[in-house]
Amino acid sequence: MGDSTDVFVIGGGPAGLAAAIAARQQGFSVIVADGNRPPIDKACGEALMPDSIGAFEQLGLSVPSTEASLLTGVRFLSSSLSAEAAFPSGCGLSIRRTTLHRIMTERAAALGAELRWQTVVTGICGQDVLIGNRTIRSKWILSADGVNSRVRRWANLQAHLCSGLRYAFRRHYRVRPWTDRMEIHWGRRHQAYTSPVNSEEVCIAVASRNPKVRMDEALQEFPELAARLEGAEVTSIERGAVVANRKLKRVWRDNVALIGDASGTVDPITGEGLGLAFHQAMVLADCLKKNDLARYQAAHRQLALRPMMMARLMLSLDGRPRLQARTLQVFRKRPEIFRRLLAVHVGALSPFDVAFDGLMLGWGLLAA
Ligand SMILES: Cc1cc2nc3c(=O)[nH]c(=O)nc-3n(C[C@H](O)[C@H](O)[C@H](O)COP(=O)(O)OP(=O)(O)OC[C@H]3O[C@@H](n4cnc5c(N)ncnc54)[C@H](O)[C@@H]3O)c2cc1C
Repeated sequence: MGDSTDVFVIGGGPAGLAAAIAARQQGFSVIVADGNRPPIDKACGEALMPDSIGAFEQLGLSVPSTEASLLTGVRFLSSSLSAEAAFPSGCGLSIRRTTLHRIMTERAAALGAELRWQTVVTGICGQDVLIGNRTIRSKWILSADGVNSRVRRWANLQAHLCSGLRYAFRRHYRVRPWTDRMEIHWGRRHQAYTSPVNSEEVCIAVASRNPKVRMDEALQEFPELAARLEGAEVTSIERGAVVANRKLKRVWRDNVALIGDASGTVDPITGEGLGLAFHQAMVLADCLKKNDLARYQAAHRQLALRPMMMARLMLSLDGRPRLQARTLQVFRKRPEIFRRLLAVHVGALSPFDVAFDGLMLGWGLLAA
């Protein structure tokens, strides 16, 4: 390919690769540039919720069963209490980030996207993408350069925080998975999320409002989990990230569109960041085809509504041990409430469908 393309994607993480795949599926010529080398790793809970799987499959992606684990539902744990609910239909997936990246890279390359690794984009100017002293012309420029997007700044678009900052870390342990549920352990000050990524490894992520806390200290708040991990080999380095709910008023300007974390984030407690990027990628490619980025804006806002609402709801339990205990008591007494809220979380029910369950939960919390 010469020095021009239809679509130039800046950032070859999951969002950038999804955008490249969707754009190729629409027949565009595509170049992706990333400053890193594959497979790219990152702090991530590595869970794909069932609502993410549909979009994943529409991008033509699939995972060999030996390289991922099925997730059948969610379990909440707090002190000695636990409650769980199965997904309303289908399963989620839990997959090592590096495996996901490899699979997406292979798919993008097989579709004919040109992938340029160790290539840092240094600026954009109209239809020109600058890579050091080289210039590539592109009709569309997609910013998939992550939460601290420079392209977003170059395009004069701003993200604003809609929640406090939290500090999240993840690490893998060689231990036989003990469950096919995604677990969320609620502690006094932190949460821990566990997902089995294959038959012999579990991904553990922790999140806290305290910037000084690291994994080992945070895990002390979860003795049951710490006991499971005791003596297990640590199979990855500890990776961290600053997380929050972030929104943008606009996710495009002129020929530049933002996607993935560059276009806003939801707290990782939702497990929805990757799925959002996959859905955005398909809508965006369709909007490029129709020359209509205003429609992308509307669809992007709509896609973010549910994860954002669920993030707020779940974070209302953060740092409130008494509320956590009462919520779990209600979920144990009335499992259908947890089941239906989980169904909203994964898009199988609308929030209106569970208004009554919300009332029952509120009543249960008062009465517990
Ligand atoms: C602790 C934690 C747990 C999470 N758990 C989950 C989960 O369980 N499930 C889920 O769905 N989501 C989860 N998420 C969210 C998910 O990880 C993100 O939404 C997702 O990684 C966003 O992908 P992205 O491609 O937008 O950004 P990134 O993965 O950050 O990719 C951005 C890429 O852009 C490249 N780049 C940046 N600037 C340039 C430049 N100038 N030139 C070239 N390349 C550039 C970078 O090298 C990078 O590869 C979690 C997040 C965290 C922090």
